[in-house]
Amino acid sequence: MGNSLQLPKAIKMTRREFLRLSSLAAAGLVAGCATNPVTGRSQLMLVSEDEEIQIDKQNAPYQFSADYGTVQDKRLSDYIDRNGKNIAAQTHRTHMPFNFHVVNAIYVNAYAFPGGTIACTRGILLSLDNEAELSALLGHELGHVNARHTAEQMSKGMLTQTVVGGLAVVAGTQGALYGNLASQLGQFGAGALLARYSRDNEREADALGMEYMVRAGYSAQGMVGLMDVLRSMGKHKPSAIELMFATHPMSDERYRTAAETADTKYKSAKDKPLYRERYLDNTARLRSQKEAIDEMQKGQQEMAANNFSATDVHLRKAIKLAPNDYTALVMMSMSQLVQKKWAVGRQYAEMAQQVYPAEAQAYHLSGFAKIQLKDYEGALEEFNSYDQVLAGNPNTLFFKGYAYEGMKKYREAGGEYRRYLQAVQQGDYARHAYQSLREWQAKGLI
Ligand SMILES: [Zn+2]
Repeated sequence: MGNSLQLPKAIKMTRREFLRLSSLAAAGLVAGCATNPVTGRSQLMLVSEDEEIQIDKQNAPYQFSADYGTVQDKRLSDYIDRNGKNIAAQTHRTHMPFNFHVVNAIYVNAYAFPGGTIACTRGILLSLDNEAELSALLGHELGHVNARHTAEQMSKGMLTQTVVGGLAVVAGTQGALYGNLASQLGQFGAGALLARYSRDNEREADALGMEYMVRAGYSAQGMVGLMDVLRSMGKHKPSAIELMFATHPMSDERYRTAAETADTKYKSAKDKPLYRERYLDNTARLRSQKEAIDEMQKGQQEMAANNFSATDVHLRKAIKLAPNDYTALVMMSMSQLVQKKWAVGRQYAEMAQQVYPAEAQAYHLSGFAKIQLKDYEGALEEFNSYDQVLAGNPNTLFFKGYAYEGMKKYREAGGEYRRYLQAVQQGDYARHAYQSLREWQAKGLI
């Protein structure tokens, strides 16, 4: 890491702490090596529980925003939270502030932040068949939190890039203002803030997850079913599950282990209920969107391959099927903007805002479109709205500065650019901000 990257205060402290502690560890002092009471395994641990919670709070909102926010289907979100908390009560760290969410994203995955924030996507919920499988999924994520895997990866220095770079990933847009918008926002959605676990972590999370779900009264068969779903999906729908593989490396091995454990250790729990009806009832509304979500998945796949006309075909179908789907509208806006169709892109972003005013991405997109359309005052308004719903994204500072610059308000522009440069010092945006500041100073404009 080139060290030219300055980090937001709260995270910076954590990072400095890591560097100090990692150098200690490297010097052979292994200060934080202790037996994890949950796993019984010796673990290098340099992150405190308070830090885990802090890191969680700092990063989860950005990941949620990248995943198009949490679903507005209250019945579904209450159901997932209830189910998650029920299993969390059976874990080793019941005092953690666990909270469970469904995000609007359509790819297939679930994830956990180290303080106990756990989310699953619409994509994965659509792939499950019963509550026992859901419980296995949430149990697995709870396993990661209980075994402190994220903190462990951070302690080993495996995760500094992802968590510490959380905001920097958002800011470090390679493509600059005229560049590729997909990379500007897309990277953000690619799980960049999430931990990459080791295979041993996965095995541990599976074992703990199974233990927790069985304790909560479910059939161990739920874990077998979950593993089967993921295994077969990896074979038939690899693109939808790509991120799942990145954050949860999958293999037949995990399926076999689950099946074996269900037959031996948890044999007595094999005939416990799966609660299929209850799952289907509570996910009814989501399942009514399945066709639309299928189209979005296809659109996503085409977008990733830069086939934008095919992308638009699928997204148009999705929007026709689900006219108020925030994800479909945002994706459509993005596709238009990548094709430099600024006005149409702005329209879809504005539709998305109306559907879900509390979500941030659509403000960024319409602000970006308005900058391209040279509607600088309009753009400024959009970025201010973005800031109100999701503060702390350095990109917003840059774009606000750029809007002021368009209005020839150099003093205001300079203020935003200075704040931007405090957060980010590399990349094309930073260069533009820096050079503008120098030029305006030389000309006596600021
Ligand atoms: Zn996992």
